Amino acid sequence: MEQTVEQKLKALYDLQTIHTKVDKIRQVRGELPMEVSDLEDDVAGLETRIQKIKSELDDLEDSIVTRKNLIRDAQANTKKYETQLNDVKNNREYDAISKEIEIQGLDVQVSEKKIKEYGFEITNKTAIYEKAVADLEERQKDLDVKKAELDTITAETQKEEQELVALADKAKEGIEERLLIAYTRLRQNAKNGLAVVTIQRDSCSGCFNQIPPQRQSDIRQRKKIIVCEHCGRILVDEQMALEAEPA
Ligand SMILES: [Zn+2]
Repeated sequence: MEQTVEQKLKALYDLQTIHTKVDKIRQVRGELPMEVSDLEDDVAGLETRIQKIKSELDDLEDSIVTRKNLIRDAQANTKKYETQLNDVKNNREYDAISKEIEIQGLDVQVSEKKIKEYGFEITNKTAIYEKAVADLEERQKDLDVKKAELDTITAETQKEEQELVALADKAKEGIEERLLIAYTRLRQNAKNGLAVVTIQRDSCSGCFNQIPPQRQSDIRQRKKIIVCEHCGRILVDEQMALEAEPA
């Protein structure tokens, strides 16, 4: 059945009234959901960071083990060559084996230097790791407190909010899609969440700009959907607020 413009305006105004109540409830919760979600992001970020540092530290420890093995091998080789030196047959052989021993010694030096470097890196990274762990603990504590606060407030208001949201869903069914899309867009763009507003003291109660008398009278006729020239919100007359059924 085709709705009159007046019925459409009433349906929109009713929906707005319900949504305004939902907005008030959410205002009571205020910034808390945002703060909780920010803290959750921080905690997740720190956990990733800690994981990464931890695996870098593990890699450094592995590198030290590898280097220690290299040193052990080089030392074993050196011993072997030193034994061979005892029964060399000529100078050429002596020089070749001496050269090998020298190379093994250099290898040991390189590995020792590396081990020292890894050690410094481990010291630095461990400090960063410990700082991150302390940060995480602190953030987690903040998060637990904020979450508990939010849970309390949510529990207090959740039932009412759910009922209103259900009511809003039902009210939406009585509004044609085209209008509902316009309404939703207006509501999303408006800071105060108002898409449908009344005339108040000759002005739009959404943006407080004056409405010319002729336009006011058109609005009171309820024959056309009229939007505010300044903010684009759908305008209804003062009377509509009084006629509206209490949600
Ligand atoms: Zn306006």
